Amino acid sequence: MIVVVGGGAAGLMAAIAASERGAAVTLVERTADGGRKILISGGGRCNVLPSAIDPHRFVSDSPPHLVRGLLRSWPLDGQRTFFEHDLGIPLALEAETGKLFPVSNRARDVRDRLVGHARRLGATLVFETLVTGVEGAGDVWTVRTSRGDYTARAVILATGGLSVPATGSDGTGLRLSASLGLKVHDTYPALTPLIAEPARHAALAGVSAHARVRARADGRSVDARGGLLFTHRGYSGPAILDVSHAAVRSLRAGKDAALRVQWSEMDARSWEQAIAASNGLVTSVVARVLPQRLAAALVAESHMPLDRRASELRRRERVALIERLTAYALPVTGDEGYKKAEVTGGGIALDEIDPRTLECPARAGLFLCGELLDAFGPIGGHNFAWAWATGRAAGIGAALRNS
Ligand SMILES: Cc1cc2nc3c(=O)[nH]c(=O)nc-3n(C[C@H](O)[C@H](O)[C@H](O)COP(=O)(O)OP(=O)(O)OC[C@H]3O[C@@H](n4cnc5c(N)ncnc54)[C@H](O)[C@@H]3O)c2cc1C
Repeated sequence: MIVVVGGGAAGLMAAIAASERGAAVTLVERTADGGRKILISGGGRCNVLPSAIDPHRFVSDSPPHLVRGLLRSWPLDGQRTFFEHDLGIPLALEAETGKLFPVSNRARDVRDRLVGHARRLGATLVFETLVTGVEGAGDVWTVRTSRGDYTARAVILATGGLSVPATGSDGTGLRLSASLGLKVHDTYPALTPLIAEPARHAALAGVSAHARVRARADGRSVDARGGLLFTHRGYSGPAILDVSHAAVRSLRAGKDAALRVQWSEMDARSWEQAIAASNGLVTSVVARVLPQRLAAALVAESHMPLDRRASELRRRERVALIERLTAYALPVTGDEGYKKAEVTGGGIALDEIDPRTLECPARAGLFLCGELLDAFGPIGGHNFAWAWATGRAAGIGAALRNS
């Protein structure tokens, strides 16, 4: 028998893949129904997949070729076919973001069909049961739970990371893996809103701009374009979430968050031209491109009166303004933590697993998948793509071992 620990995206997919190959599967899940993160994903719509995947945009402290190999193990068109044909969930492309959602726009459909499909294939799903320990090696594994022990030939750990613990993932799998001697890379909240203390821009809460945000993480530059939303405590929106890991890691290393924002598609040259061509108020020139309140705040921060006309701008003022419009140093001092992070950065080192089967060579019979592993992608469906691909690979790997 194969025991899958955790009934989220990766665990459900692992149970399906193993059952399809004829294995006897029991999935043990602590919540009453599983897949709670699927339910809240994509604002309740579940962004099941991206329309294109770029492995280079995944973040990991493990060798990049392992991330690439795992993503390629189940190419996107195969994943899409599974959801549309095997599960019967037609997907629709949201053209402006490149995200795929169920046509029904209901995350519940995704969770319920995965659960139903696993059951139909013969998997036993055991809910409201907490796994407290995993012990063993080779062909004899014991999974200790709040309702007694299971004996298995293979165990698939799919307990997720530390993000949004209210969905059931509190890091158990990371702790169990560490206790089994596996290398766990430092974990941190990722795809998370950021905060500023003091909240210098609290008055702008609710304002959003289409921005380009740049950061540096471990010597690499990171760049994201998209919505930037001011919150009461700091900053959120896709562009912030996608670079948040760089800020989180820099701050944890005792450095500056070093986020620079270009508030629109306009670069320094375009602003120079727009200002030179205008006789109106500087604030009006900026507000033609940016939201009025943001424009006023940036002009005020550039130390000039709000009634300054573009034609009267002093050089020093123009330079300061353009710098703020195109390379604004966002005063980030922290993050919203795992409570709001969409994923966990870090996790079990990918070189602890065989990339073809997701089995731990050091712990034969133990398979790992999903967010537990040391990799995450940008928003847009990449993290489910990772969970589906690694879950399936672990299910197939465990079924082969079990046969
Ligand atoms: C608000 C939000 C929105 C998101 N939206 C998207 C999106 O639209 N698209 C996208 O691609 N990604 C999205 N993500 C990320 C995505 O949800 C995760 O990457 C994915 O769910 C990870 O799957 P997983 O199975 O590895 O972990 P999880 O989904 O966290 O599942 C782990 C499961 O293990 C169970 N478990 C944990 N410990 C135990 C234990 N000791 N005993 C028994 N059971 C246990 C948990 O209850 C849980 O059901 C979002 C995340 C959040 C938080």
